[in-house]
Amino acid sequence: MTVNAPALHPRATELVDEFTAWRHHLHAHPETAFEENLTSAFVAEKLKSFGLEVATGMAKTGVIATLKGNKGDGKRIGLRADMDALDIHETTNLPYASKYPGKMHACGHDGHMTMLLGAAKILAENPDFAGTVDFIFQPAEENEGGGREMVNEGLFDQYPCDAVYGMHNWPGHDVGTMAMKPGPMMASYDVFEIVVEGKGSHAAMPHLGRDPITTAGQVLLALQAIVSRNVNPQQSAVISPTQIFGGDTWNVIPDTATIRGTVRTFDPAIQDMIEERLKTVVHSTAAAFDCKAKVSYQRRYPATINTEAETGIAQAAATKVVGAQNIDTDPESSMASEDFAFMLNEKPGSYVWLGNGPTDGNCMLHNAAYNFNDDATPYGVTYWVALVHEHLSA
Ligand SMILES: [Zn+2]
Ligand SMILES: [Zn+2]
Repeated sequence: MTVNAPALHPRATELVDEFTAWRHHLHAHPETAFEENLTSAFVAEKLKSFGLEVATGMAKTGVIATLKGNKGDGKRIGLRADMDALDIHETTNLPYASKYPGKMHACGHDGHMTMLLGAAKILAENPDFAGTVDFIFQPAEENEGGGREMVNEGLFDQYPCDAVYGMHNWPGHDVGTMAMKPGPMMASYDVFEIVVEGKGSHAAMPHLGRDPITTAGQVLLALQAIVSRNVNPQQSAVISPTQIFGGDTWNVIPDTATIRGTVRTFDPAIQDMIEERLKTVVHSTAAAFDCKAKVSYQRRYPATINTEAETGIAQAAATKVVGAQNIDTDPESSMASEDFAFMLNEKPGSYVWLGNGPTDGNCMLHNAAYNFNDDATPYGVTYWVALVHEHLSA
């Protein structure tokens, strides 16, 4: 179902065929983490054609374009889109399906680039705002922390934004709807590896060794007590061991067994607590069974946490685009994670979801049959333009 919007930007509807052509071109040419060379060149060329100042090369393939409003000085905001595809073999059979086997825009970043480019074109035609907008196109959102790289390479030193905004398409929400709230929208993403070290022996003579397999089983169970016993039941967290391996044959107890998995949280204090408890539980459980353990715990992405004031601005802008009745102001947070979190760690801002239509037929994100819904494009473009006017009103 498509919900009628109160106010799509007239240029966003007039230019929709051009936007769709960009999206299909990008969809057909997906590139993954830090290799978005053709993508980055396409984005930079479009931004230059709109008459914007364009910088390339940050975090390898990042592109940033800057536009000053014609209503004088004011605040500075960053609008961010992601550019990378996934290592998925596309099964859509679309005429513009991926030309690169094993690579696919299965998260809609082709649509995200298109919507931000569309907004840049419209705002460049009529920059009727006070202040400065930076259009930030980042590489490697999916796994490799392109947003973190841009921050580390001085994104906000060179482009000192007062706030930064992000948007992701969300299948399962109707086109013409949006969702956002202050606080956590997406979870943090940590990974761990536990190596239980025992002493190998003949399987028939376990008393001559120290069994890491049985110990790993105890560790696995003990880990589940952290969320159920240490996390406040009103709050949430997930510990999911996803790999366990050890040993080579039936009749030999091996020296080691390995457990890997992931931890997701919304609250940095819970994240700290889980990391500490996980290490304690692993070492103590291993010791109880006369083994040792090595734990490596890596924090990949922090939680994506929206600030109050900027989320108010995002809601005000979204209201002008889709109407208050089509905004979910208290969506359930997602346990997935988002590299935009690194930018939100540095600057206040807000990350919103844009309805992408039903999941049947076009499927969920990261699915080989997924396709970004072009009907959502005018809404996303209009939202970006409205957001600039909302935050940078004279
Ligand atoms: Zn994704
Ligand atoms: Zn994505």
